[in-house]
Amino acid sequence: MMLKNRLALIAHDSRKDLLVAWVGRHAEHLENMAIVATGTTGQRISKAHPHLSVRSVKSGPLGGDQQIGALIAEGALDALIFFVDPLSPMPHDVDVKALTRLAIVYDLPMACSPSTADAVLLHLVAGAEEA
Ligand code: PGA
Repeated sequence: MMLKNRLALIAHDSRKDLLVAWVGRHAEHLENMAIVATGTTGQRISKAHPHLSVRSVKSGPLGGDQQIGALIAEGALDALIFFVDPLSPMPHDVDVKALTRLAIVYDLPMACSPSTADAVLLHLVAGAEEA
């Protein structure tokens, strides 16, 4: 049996609309993936796309980013898409740094914008087709 790709989705507040729209554009592929998201991001995605199965962890600033980090360390993810707010400094900027660092340590594909997320998704879909 083909294993499902495991994808983590996170967006800062000003980028949530962008992520929800990105998910909508790629719903056909995302339907076949196991999606985990930080709390508010997950709620927004589930509301807009109820047919997708999305597991939500805690809200990012309340530890959700660290929960995603733990999944990276456990090898439980195939990619991370994190739409980071590029314009406002956040009190939890350190969370972005921590997740970026772990993604590099484990060489996990990570995307922070729609075009790079498109590239990461293409990579996952191509891998799944080869399997
Ligand atoms: P949220 O967390 O999805 O719960 O808003 C995202 C973040 O700010 O890391």
